[in-house]
Amino acid sequence: MAKCTSCGNESGEVIKFNCPRCNKKLMQRCDKCRSLSIEYKCPCGFEGP
Ligand SMILES: [Zn+2]
Ligand SMILES: [Zn+2]
Repeated sequence: MAKCTSCGNESGEVIKFNCPRCNKKLMQRCDKCRSLSIEYKCPCGFEGP
């Protein structure tokens, strides 16, 4: 099951995309974090949204 990078939520729809900066790390975000624009953090130092 996909797990949201921001909140750790494993339920609901989670979209996956590569980090815009390093393009290596797969980021996963749930609907909730996406609609609330909750920030996420990549190990490379990138912080979204
Ligand atoms: Zn989330
Ligand atoms: Zn990155």
